[in-house]
Amino acid sequence: MKGDEHHHLSRVARIKKGRRIWLFDEKGISYHAEVDDVGTHQTRLRILEERRERIPFPRIFLAMSMIKAQKLEWVLQKGTELGMFAFIPVNTARSVVKFADGAEVKKMARWARIVREAAKQCGRSSVPEISPPVSLSVLLKERQPVHKLFLYERTETLLRELILARHNTQESKDNTDQDIMILVGPEGGWTNAEAEDIVGHGFEAVSLGDRILRAETAALCCLVVLTQFWN
Ligand code: SAH
Repeated sequence: MKGDEHHHLSRVARIKKGRRIWLFDEKGISYHAEVDDVGTHQTRLRILEERRERIPFPRIFLAMSMIKAQKLEWVLQKGTELGMFAFIPVNTARSVVKFADGAEVKKMARWARIVREAAKQCGRSSVPEISPPVSLSVLLKERQPVHKLFLYERTETLLRELILARHNTQESKDNTDQDIMILVGPEGGWTNAEAEDIVGHGFEAVSLGDRILRAETAALCCLVVLTQFWN
């Protein structure tokens, strides 16, 4: 092992020969390894055991309107802990943040670091995928999971009702046909035209209750509920 991870192991964690540690490759495989040698430029490890992470189904794709940087980063961190499979930032009519050309490259590197750190911290060996920001119209045109939830405070259907109906009839629990996309709006909410367009593309509008939640609260609340049922 070289570079940053070597530095971290040898200088920060001050790991010694003979110690056993867990490594993960970010794609879902963990390795139990023993430290063989700590050198100046590299740490040599011997793999003792390989473990494949059980990828939870359904995979949850969180598509979320761009909100203020700090809040978005909070969602990325907490979403990773809660098992979110992928994150898709979406530019909507009322998104507060919009990227000028090229600015997302730097942001995406920062986001990737946040989800990697969160995965490490919670012992998850796969790291959520983060897509480059897309516009709502592009998102709606793309191929998507069969189950699409549209978080909308102005609908009567409660998420709870939908889940209870689904959960009782669900036959297979380990099938990508069960993947779910959650779409969350910006602080300013959805425009009527957007709401119509989204529903027109097969999203089911669901409410989380009477209170209007902050976008980041709504996203996390939905993730918590879904993961408790399936993921
Ligand atoms: N338009 C609202 C606020 C939007 S809240 C207003 O200004 O009054 C931001 C986003 O969080 C919404 O677009 C929606 O996706 C989600 N959200 C907030 N409260 C919700 C609720 N009770 N049920 C479902 N989604 C909710």
